[in-house]
Amino acid sequence: MNLLKELNEKKEWLRKLATLLARPAGATELYRLADAVRRKHTGDEVHVRGIIEFSNHCSKNCLYCGIRRASRAQKRYCMSADEIVTTATRATEFGYGTVVLQSGEPAPYEINELCAIVSRIKSETDLAVTLSCGVYSPGEYKNLARAGCDRYLLRFETSNPDLYKKLHPESSLKNRLQALQHIREAGLQVGSGFMIGLPGATLEDLARDLLLASRLNLDMIGCGPFLRSPETPLAGGNRALLHEELYFKIMALLRLLNPFAHIPATTAFDSLTGQGRDLVLQRGGNVFMPNLTPTRYRKQYQLYPDKPCVDEEADRCAGCVKARLKSLGRPLASGPGHSLIPS
Ligand code: SAH
Ligand code: SF4
Repeated sequence: MNLLKELNEKKEWLRKLATLLARPAGATELYRLADAVRRKHTGDEVHVRGIIEFSNHCSKNCLYCGIRRASRAQKRYCMSADEIVTTATRATEFGYGTVVLQSGEPAPYEINELCAIVSRIKSETDLAVTLSCGVYSPGEYKNLARAGCDRYLLRFETSNPDLYKKLHPESSLKNRLQALQHIREAGLQVGSGFMIGLPGATLEDLARDLLLASRLNLDMIGCGPFLRSPETPLAGGNRALLHEELYFKIMALLRLLNPFAHIPATTAFDSLTGQGRDLVLQRGGNVFMPNLTPTRYRKQYQLYPDKPCVDEEADRCAGCVKARLKSLGRPLASGPGHSLIPS
């Protein structure tokens, strides 16, 4: 928690950032700057990471999430190891450099089985593998790294410890930040980030989120709008809580504060507003994460409503990504797209 204490002491920074976020004007200039910084430090290429949502079983009850333990809205599923590996190999057909395996927590595979899945993907393809399945012990992260896992994605969600506790009654921000430390110590590239516009978060919280994401020296920073999910304790009222511009201002500021980080245009931006992901790519983003999950499971992995592409086949998603990048004048990157953070 020393880190949070340190950030709370940066009162002047927090105040300035919160004022910048509150100011109605100036966004166009901010976006122009973020785009220029992105071009200078990460180039025009967009790294494409296919996401495989391999299971929606979850033992956690995060208040915001559509697949939380208490949700009866969706039938639970778990893809077999063979199905995960076969789906991953499709990413190479589409020219993607990375697959991201994501699930509820804990993943419905023992750690040695998960390691075996990672090893198979690594031996059968040239893909980088990212996992995003929640908190493990330090030893388990090390096992994953030994199995060939390249990266791990674990959002800290909010930098406000009290809000974190309200949203995750069974865990704490301290444990989440410790897990990020364990991921780094295991030698994995680290991805984290936060949800923008959580109920109860103030502009100062958002400013602290930005500073925390930057202070953690992350290889990848993944943020997206919070969207109210039906059948959760946070259902009801406006789907998104902030003025639309604010979500994009946060992304642009993230880029200015983190010139070398990989910053994805996350799926939830398309649910916030049509072509939202394209806008993120023009306002600091350099990564796109199309859905690779087999179509028959997609409707059951609705963390939030109006998720795009739930009826699409993976190859249609791949075609759509290429068309979107072309219309933005941005080339598809080749290779795994590892960390750009100078060591
Ligand atoms: N179980 C893992 C990974 C799956 S959830 C974990 O929790 O880390 C992946 C991300 O989805 C979460 O980190 C959270 O930031 C996001 N998410 C969940 N519910 C959401 C909602 N209602 N709106 C926007 N993002 C949401
Ligand atoms: Fe489970 Fe992750 Fe959703 Fe929390 S956010 S309920 S851990 S899938």
